Amino acid sequence: MKKLLRQLIQADSTQNKGEVLAAEVIATYFNRHGIDCRVDQWDGNRANVVAHVKTGRRRPALLFVCHLDVVGPGEENWRHPPFAAVEDGGRIYGRGTTDMKGGTAAAVAAICEMARSKKGLQGDIVFAATAGEETDSSGVVRFMQDRDSLPPLAGIVVPEPTDFAVITAHRGLFWLKITTRGKAVHSSMPERGVNAIGAMKRVLDELERYEIQAEPHPLLGKCSMSVNMIAGGEAMNIVPDRCSLGVDIRTLPGQDHETIRYDFERMLARLKTGVPQFDGELAIERSAQAIETDPECEFVKTFCSAVGVDLTNVIGYTTDAPHLLPLGAPIVIFGPGKPRMCHQVDEYIEIADLQTGEDLFKSVIARFLA
Ligand SMILES: [Zn+2]
Repeated sequence: MKKLLRQLIQADSTQNKGEVLAAEVIATYFNRHGIDCRVDQWDGNRANVVAHVKTGRRRPALLFVCHLDVVGPGEENWRHPPFAAVEDGGRIYGRGTTDMKGGTAAAVAAICEMARSKKGLQGDIVFAATAGEETDSSGVVRFMQDRDSLPPLAGIVVPEPTDFAVITAHRGLFWLKITTRGKAVHSSMPERGVNAIGAMKRVLDELERYEIQAEPHPLLGKCSMSVNMIAGGEAMNIVPDRCSLGVDIRTLPGQDHETIRYDFERMLARLKTGVPQFDGELAIERSAQAIETDPECEFVKTFCSAVGVDLTNVIGYTTDAPHLLPLGAPIVIFGPGKPRMCHQVDEYIEIADLQTGEDLFKSVIARFLA
């Protein structure tokens, strides 16, 4: 399994490289263990990989969903090269060791191991590792287009790094982009143009007064909004005709993203009414609902007992899990690796944690399917 993780890290799957190499590493591993596995490739180097352990289906299946992509290594120097997968002091270093190739390798190894004793399995295991979780979720969306081919599910496991906490809820994500347009002229005569940055100031003033209406969640806290990007202007001597703003909103379970969209549309319409030359438009960059699985449901209770955890928990970051909600199965996020390692320089995973991860995934499979 350590070798599998090292090969996965070496198969650089940052945004520009795409996921196809990492998908092939996993497909080769499954095929070598006699498990049906398919790489779905599109747009050149984008890829998902889906494996299916087929049985007599006396019990509902388990679905494991991972992501293949990793974020870039950044500008800083790493202690060990980020795609070399160097083993040092009981750890493996490299981009993706924690987020989330470690959990992926542990799940793949556990599935192959359990499938070896296939006669003992009472239900199917489906494994998917998808593209673009860190960017556009295109892989999980594509996987879901094929969802009719899935067997009935007992539940879904997302092996993101939770340091072995059983996570049943996280906030959703709603990314909005506002663009204001003006008229470019030489800035020695600004009165002849329309300044798009000036228009964006009106938007920012409105946003400062705006509060999203949502009751705080007992565990997840409040819905939050943060203006994180702004861009506009071509040169010091041109009145800008375009300015754009990026807003990151984190939503709570049950919160409707459409309501927030409507608030923003209304705000832009109001500005237009007040200032006729105001021209602003809204675009949705990314939208994924919050997830909340009932911690008291049978699947979660059985899962917790299989991995020896008493209490479920929540996390601050988001995952691809919301895209799996249409499957109608309970979802838990659970895997090896410390969440604080995600996206860090010198990202590593403890080899002992990897092994524990594999053992616990085997125990989960045994509890539900053996
Ligand atoms: Zn991740």
